[in-house]
Amino acid sequence: MVPAQAQPTPLTPVLSRFWDEPESWSLATYRRHDGYRALDKALGMEPDDVIALVEKSGLRGRGGAGFRTGTKWSYIPQDDTGVGAKPHFLVINADESEPGTCKDIPLMLMSPHALIEGAIIAAYAIRAHQAFIYVRGEVVPVLRRLQSAVAEAYAAGYLGKDIGWSGFDLDVVVHAGAGAYICGEETALLDSLEGGRGQPRLRPPFPAVAGLYACPTVVNNVETIASVPPILLNGIDWFASMGSDESPGFTLYSLSGHVKQPGQYEAPLGITLRELLAYADGVREGHELKFWTPGGSSTPLLTAEHLDVPLDYEGVAGVGSMLGTKALQIFDETTCVVRAVRRWTQFYAHESCGKCTPCREGTYWLTQIYRRLETGSGTQSDIQKLLDISDSLFGKSFCALGDGAASPIISSVKFFRAEYEAHLRDGCPFDPSASMLAPPEALI
Ligand code: SF4
Repeated sequence: MVPAQAQPTPLTPVLSRFWDEPESWSLATYRRHDGYRALDKALGMEPDDVIALVEKSGLRGRGGAGFRTGTKWSYIPQDDTGVGAKPHFLVINADESEPGTCKDIPLMLMSPHALIEGAIIAAYAIRAHQAFIYVRGEVVPVLRRLQSAVAEAYAAGYLGKDIGWSGFDLDVVVHAGAGAYICGEETALLDSLEGGRGQPRLRPPFPAVAGLYACPTVVNNVETIASVPPILLNGIDWFASMGSDESPGFTLYSLSGHVKQPGQYEAPLGITLRELLAYADGVREGHELKFWTPGGSSTPLLTAEHLDVPLDYEGVAGVGSMLGTKALQIFDETTCVVRAVRRWTQFYAHESCGKCTPCREGTYWLTQIYRRLETGSGTQSDIQKLLDISDSLFGKSFCALGDGAASPIISSVKFFRAEYEAHLRDGCPFDPSASMLAPPEALI
């Protein structure tokens, strides 16, 4: 008997369901698509019940770490006399800067009210009366779009005093960052928001206890917060009908690079890259997949042998990588993996905040070795040196940037050692003129 053909996983547009409508960003469009109805429901519930519902839904942070959102909210102390008596803050991490990651920016551009409604619900749940949206400063159109959406929400009574006659007050500030990648790390973001130099803080204490201005603070990613209203509106069974037990729900997968139809594909967690590539019309004509990142440049590379790995937290971790931000960068066989990883390494060297020695020094020396490799002046020991320095970064740096810098190096040597060895002998085999390239100091 011939086995039945498995049905492809269907796309599930939720956050992106009306992005192609005219003025999808306006309050009127958002209302036409049930906008702010989840807020009405939330305001009719006790804050602790909202937290319990989000916890029960199993929603996990979409910013990379995958921590359970409801659990994070439940860590905010609620006592009236100790730490809980301090003001509570909600901070939304919209500092999307990871190479390849491009989901929050379109989300804020196309449906900013999804984020604002989610922020009001989250603030109500954790009993915060002040929220901040920390946006990457370079994306001025996003800043403008968010600022005008926040103004619309104030004018409509969704922000400010006594929201929906519930007695709940909330103010939202849209804050522009100054362009440092490290400010996407939540504690560096808080330092930056306070007006200081953005550098990661030692933890504990964690932000839930001593975050912004040393007060209880929840820091959540844009997509995480925007996912809350549909869960409240449609229920946890609906949410659990997508994805797996451990990784339920829908999410935005961003396909970029050598695909025919790059873009945002919203699908249940656990869809495979093979299925997503089918929706994107495949790798560009006449070429084949060589390697890809599952979650941006800081996640270990995968190859064509991983096309059927479920793209959820457990599935990707099971093959030694991370789901990260679900930024699927596709590279075909014309791409030099050494050059691609070199570019990322230069990025991390440039963005290292300099606070800890393994990252500050290590990323610099890694760029020097990559320069030698690409120009054909490497030595036999260079590949091992790359691995040794990466080992001194991975798990030994002060924050995750060190892991992110090391991961593509370690994984690319694992899968493409022969290509690295070819560089030792003759420089870049993909581009003989590489030996004429400007020194990396000019690029970093
Ligand atoms: Fe700064 Fe890098 Fe250390 Fe993070 S790992 S604290 S970015 S120097």
